[in-house]
Amino acid sequence: MPVKNRFAELLPEITAWRRDLHENPEILFETHRTSALVAEKLREFGCDEVVTGIGRTGVVGVIKGKTDTSGKVIGLRADMDALPILEATGLAYASKTPGAMHACGHDGHTAMLLGAAKYLSETRNFDGQVVVIFQPAEEGGGGGREMCEDGMMDRWNITEVYGMHNWPGRPVGSFAIRPGAFFAATDQFEIIIEGKGGHAAKPQETVDSTLVAAHVITALQSIASRNADPVDQVVVSVTSIESSSKAFNVIAQRVHMKGTVRTMSKGMRDLAEKRLKAISEGTAGAFGAVAAIKYHRGYPCMVNHEDQTAFAAEVARSVSGGCEDAPLVMGGEDFAFMLEERPGAYILVGNGDGASVHHPEYNFNDDAIPAGCSWWAGIVEQRMPAA
Ligand SMILES: [Zn+2]
Ligand SMILES: [Zn+2]
Repeated sequence: MPVKNRFAELLPEITAWRRDLHENPEILFETHRTSALVAEKLREFGCDEVVTGIGRTGVVGVIKGKTDTSGKVIGLRADMDALPILEATGLAYASKTPGAMHACGHDGHTAMLLGAAKYLSETRNFDGQVVVIFQPAEEGGGGGREMCEDGMMDRWNITEVYGMHNWPGRPVGSFAIRPGAFFAATDQFEIIIEGKGGHAAKPQETVDSTLVAAHVITALQSIASRNADPVDQVVVSVTSIESSSKAFNVIAQRVHMKGTVRTMSKGMRDLAEKRLKAISEGTAGAFGAVAAIKYHRGYPCMVNHEDQTAFAAEVARSVSGGCEDAPLVMGGEDFAFMLEERPGAYILVGNGDGASVHHPEYNFNDDAIPAGCSWWAGIVEQRMPAA
């Protein structure tokens, strides 16, 4: 099954949806226009059921095959949200909302899954059911988690779930995947160093929170270099440091730092959290200061299931003639929550050369649409062949 001819016919229509979505980006759970548009299209295609308001602004559509004896219900998931970025592409269909932009290609993901839903509603050439899942708030809001918490998996008896993301730097329409841990767990921390402020010319009367913060930042790098097994992945980044002093002659009473920890296993995640706390508190204590730590666990590590990954790669090979082994990604992906509830797999589809995701000049490549849509259709038709 190479790229399906039907998607070549539908390409202008799917591209028009994609560009309309690009022009009207919405952030986090505020995907009101997008969700309404998706629900309207799914009804127009003749989906058997369309439900809005799952995970606040998420949308679910059900498409039944010609027969329904396989006992399989396959979930296909796309994300709909944009990012708080000022677009700099200069495109004719650039964002009409200053400060909001589809800089991660979720406009393309939504359009491709809509295209697949249209095709699957027309043909229904499978034995089972398809649940198309359109989620809000992938970019840090945990929209996927909220859809799961709303009981989506049990409500529609979903048996497997699949996801896809465009990938700049890979040839357009080519695929890459890996089994097991794929995207990192993304945790956030804040460290507040409380010292004793005073005159910069009388350091002996102070506890310099800025100096303590500098030692803490340096010491935190020993988590990756000394505590972690060198073959296991961990990133600790302090990304923000703010002192309570705004003057050149005042030693700050307090320093507030923020950062992120990225890991690929539960053991490493636990170790990094434990060591971050111990190093911050111990270092601060050694200087006579006090460290208060807030540690927030964000998205878990996204783990592809073996069987579904092998199948997803087989479908990718049938669409584009090959499927490469993807490298580990230290970014996060909230499809992780869906993969914690059901077996499934997440694949990358090439976006060609151009700006990387989250860059103000990024744009989704419409040439990837036929391959992306054909992969969705293949997942359904090859996993649940018509009786
Ligand atoms: Zn993103
Ligand atoms: Zn994304």
